[in-house]
Amino acid sequence: MNRKLSFDLDGVVADFGEPFYGLFEQRYGVRPTSETFNHLLYNGLPWNSIQPDEFAGFNNDYFRHLYNGGFGDLELVESAVNGLRTLVGRGYEDITINTYRPGEFEDITLDTTRFTRLWLNDKGLDFVKLEVAQNEAEKVAKISEGGYFSHVDDQSKILSLVFESNGGIRRGLHVQPFSGHLIEGAFDDFRILNNWDEIVLFCMGQEDGR
Ligand SMILES: [Mg+2]
Repeated sequence: MNRKLSFDLDGVVADFGEPFYGLFEQRYGVRPTSETFNHLLYNGLPWNSIQPDEFAGFNNDYFRHLYNGGFGDLELVESAVNGLRTLVGRGYEDITINTYRPGEFEDITLDTTRFTRLWLNDKGLDFVKLEVAQNEAEKVAKISEGGYFSHVDDQSKILSLVFESNGGIRRGLHVQPFSGHLIEGAFDDFRILNNWDEIVLFCMGQEDGR
């Protein structure tokens, strides 16, 4: 039985939500919602008088800050460590975090792989493997060709691309405001996962339904 598991980092293990919401609220005086992101980020429409171009700049600044060292300030998604430890205890010891750090931020000099590894260790996740791709396509290839039983991501686009490359891999969508799942829709049969309890059951093939 294949017990090799893959997880996305940003939005599945690392919690981008609160720090980003806080900065957004500081800048615009209003708290964002899933609808906010769908309007601004995915549909390119204004929201609450905020223009998509303005937001894109803000979004870019935030990620540049993260990849330049601000990542160290992030906390874990609730119950992520317990969930991963539970899986190891059930015999799923081969766990890989698959992420990518965009190469378009040319001013970033940090060794992001080493930095991310240190962050994981600091959070008590020294037992998971880490794969850091340079871009989205490379990440999708690593997941598709990695021989995994399942992959959990918070971006439906990644799950769709993995499906096109490897229809056999089981895919779970961790629902996050950043995921854009409301926009891109249920184009194939990935599983919706709302929290780490559901992620653990999914990874063990014990979820209800299909
Ligand atoms: Mg993500």
